[in-house]
Amino acid sequence: MDIYRHPTFDMACEQFDLVADFLELPTNDRDRVKYPKRALTVAVPVRMDSGEVRVFAGYRVQHHLSMGPTKGGMRFHQDVALGEVAALAMWMSWKCALAGLPYGGAKGGVACDPRTLSRNEVERVTRRFTQEIIPFIGPQIDIPAPDVGTNEQTMAWMMDTYSNHFGHAVPGVVTGKPVDLGGSLGRRESTGRGVAFLVGRALQTLGIKAEGSTAVVQGYGNVGAVAAHQMVRDGMKVIAVSDAEGGLHNAGGIDLIKLDAHVAKHRTVKGFTEAGPIGNDDLLLLKCDVLVPAALERVITESNAAKLQCRVLAEGANGPTTPAADAILSQCEDLFIIPDILCNAGGVIVSYFEWVQDLQSFFWSEAEVMDKLYRILDTAFVETLTLARQKHTPMRLAAMSLGIRRVAEAKRKRGLFP
Ligand code: GLU
Repeated sequence: MDIYRHPTFDMACEQFDLVADFLELPTNDRDRVKYPKRALTVAVPVRMDSGEVRVFAGYRVQHHLSMGPTKGGMRFHQDVALGEVAALAMWMSWKCALAGLPYGGAKGGVACDPRTLSRNEVERVTRRFTQEIIPFIGPQIDIPAPDVGTNEQTMAWMMDTYSNHFGHAVPGVVTGKPVDLGGSLGRRESTGRGVAFLVGRALQTLGIKAEGSTAVVQGYGNVGAVAAHQMVRDGMKVIAVSDAEGGLHNAGGIDLIKLDAHVAKHRTVKGFTEAGPIGNDDLLLLKCDVLVPAALERVITESNAAKLQCRVLAEGANGPTTPAADAILSQCEDLFIIPDILCNAGGVIVSYFEWVQDLQSFFWSEAEVMDKLYRILDTAFVETLTLARQKHTPMRLAAMSLGIRRVAEAKRKRGLFP
């Protein structure tokens, strides 16, 4: 599977191999469970506002098809690559299986920097990309959702392009849509609120009171900002945040309402005057109760892992911690990790609810959505913690082994065709 060569793919494979050994997966099953089933690469030609035509690379990887359609986000970021998307698709599989959702994992994206594109250019990228992958997606095939660099509007354009092709509205083709188009109440906040809910469960487990605890959030975006607000509502103090442009630190706590007004105006946290500047590297090393990496993968590595000063590491991002860092962190007895596939699962869980609501054209109240979300997260948290304690394994190994075992079982029961 050399086509996926990428540091993030190597990392996902390394994690898988550890779990496969732990589960004693038969040799004949390993590669079948590990490698993505399908991948599509497309050239996305787009006329820019200047009249120039640029061709962007677009990808969609579907990891396994054994339990239902595939599910996962679409990322718009300049570094998007096939191997990265493949790794993210693998993680989606373990995440869905851990939460008990009837999906395989998928991920996709376009290698473009949406911050440098106009709104019209982003719309043309989205629509042309969607057009190119139409045979590959669908409510019973593969259901995209937002990820880094995409949002409700991106999903609305994808849904519109797909629906125009078929001549009727197909809301179930994407999740994370605006509520007026068949989106679910609570979906926008679901990942961040799920992160905050699990932070609460972790603090409870450690006997630390949420009230007055401190949090640091790397990535004040779709996930990090919502998690930060919820943690403040839960009585915690957010002392540092950052985004791609820079970071802020105020030991007394940052006023998030004022910060949001600044972000609405400047599209970055940078320049907010009620906190001092801090670099993204230093931010991760601040002393705090809860550290939430909610940006990109591979930010906690062997070079900074030993210097973390948090009690809880709540992985809002996918793949923020490398296996080498994990090996170091597993020696820190008083560090509690909420691994990514558990910590950020709130997003795909409410995506599942959205898809179910679209298929039955019957919509739920926000209270119903949140109640069902927290129940699923709580079950996954308890199952993971119980396994980790029984087998004396790190939380990541426990969470991944629950997910991977379910996928392996599904494949075993279906059998190998022909
Ligand atoms: N992109 C999100 C994730 O990584 C959400 C995926 C979805 O809702 O399908 O989990």
